[in-house]
Amino acid sequence: MNEGMKELLIVKYGEVMLKGNNRPMFVNALIRNINEVFGDSVRYRIRKGQSMLYIEPEEGFDLDQATKQLRRVFGVLLFHRALEVEKDPEKIKASSVDYFAKALNGSRSFKIETRRTDKQFPQRSQEINNLLGAHIADAFPHLQVDVHDPDVTLFVNIRKEAAYIYRDKERGAGGLPVGTGGKATALLSGGIDSPLAAWLIARRGVALNALHFHSYPYTSERSKKKVIGLARQLAQYTGRMNLYVFPFTGIQEAIADHCPDDQLTIIMRRMMMKGAEKIARKTSAQALVTGESIAQVASQTMESLTVTNAAVDMPVFRPLIGMDKEEIIDFTRQIGTYNISIEPYSDCCTIFVPRHPQTKPKLEKIRESESQVDFDGMIDKAMEKVEVIEIKPEEEAMIE
Ligand code: ATP
Ligand code: MG
Repeated sequence: MNEGMKELLIVKYGEVMLKGNNRPMFVNALIRNINEVFGDSVRYRIRKGQSMLYIEPEEGFDLDQATKQLRRVFGVLLFHRALEVEKDPEKIKASSVDYFAKALNGSRSFKIETRRTDKQFPQRSQEINNLLGAHIADAFPHLQVDVHDPDVTLFVNIRKEAAYIYRDKERGAGGLPVGTGGKATALLSGGIDSPLAAWLIARRGVALNALHFHSYPYTSERSKKKVIGLARQLAQYTGRMNLYVFPFTGIQEAIADHCPDDQLTIIMRRMMMKGAEKIARKTSAQALVTGESIAQVASQTMESLTVTNAAVDMPVFRPLIGMDKEEIIDFTRQIGTYNISIEPYSDCCTIFVPRHPQTKPKLEKIRESESQVDFDGMIDKAMEKVEVIEIKPEEEAMIE
């Protein structure tokens, strides 16, 4: 590359912009999270601009790798690679030709789109468009200018500190930086829904820990590994988190032995919520997250959800509540959890399934059935045996 030119990454943050006096806190969290995904072994500098971050590579920084990593950082609205050039018209001309040569890829038409935030710069945006357009058309005679529907657009941004040349911007993961929105406990089954529910809440800036109810030996070690895999995939977005594995066998057996068959599922759901609330309180989480969606199954009718909800005294977030299964599946393909979820290992819910589960349970009746067993005592006992697994994003999600 020419003298006075360097490539860097520009990150535009989204909603963080709307945070008024709290903005520095959000921006610092974003920087911290970017530092975490890049890791200690790479060298770069982050400079804060107005509504943007500039990530300037140093020795050995891999821009391709960093681009992939940035796609998974919440709080990033858009980002792109750009060439930083001295604000000298001749240098801008030379650099745009260099840059264009790489960006062409068989294109036949182009346009230049200039924005001049530095009003001191002598040429106006339209003049720069014309100047560069003519220069590029000279350098690449097969290219036509097409301002309406070009194959390639070259963006030029003239700012106070320098000029930036780049092609398209890429959409980031959106949302807010993880760690700015409190902490919640996400109930992770091995299914398709719960990982997306967790992901959506994390995207709002909420730090997570994950909780899985395991009914060994009714459910296998493999099903636990699958949940670890899902948690690792989530950790690609959230950073490190803890996964709590709650031994649920005794409680499930007690439900099956002492409660009416058609109430098994709803009571099991309530016991999970009670266990989850205990874990959440113990780990300073302020809310629970589940993958429920209205009427998807018998335990997710409005009546069932009401009875489930009544088991806890803490907000329960259900971000999938109004989503269709098809939409959920498409989304989970994008976030990389779908292929893990469809591995065939069953979770505990499929083991003790009644033939005719109630779809309109009554809270009084359910409480009456529950009073046959000291479930609170059992949950407290099980709490002592909860296993804690530290989930690190750098580990492979798929487990052989
Ligand atoms: P999923 O696809 O997430 O398993 P589901 O449609 O199968 O959801 P249910 O089995 O009724 O629905 O579970 C509803 C929610 O309860 C799940 O989305 C999850 O948040 C939680 N949940 C269910 N089973 C477990 C489990 N074994 N461990 C932890 N959470 C669970
Ligand atoms: Mg399930």
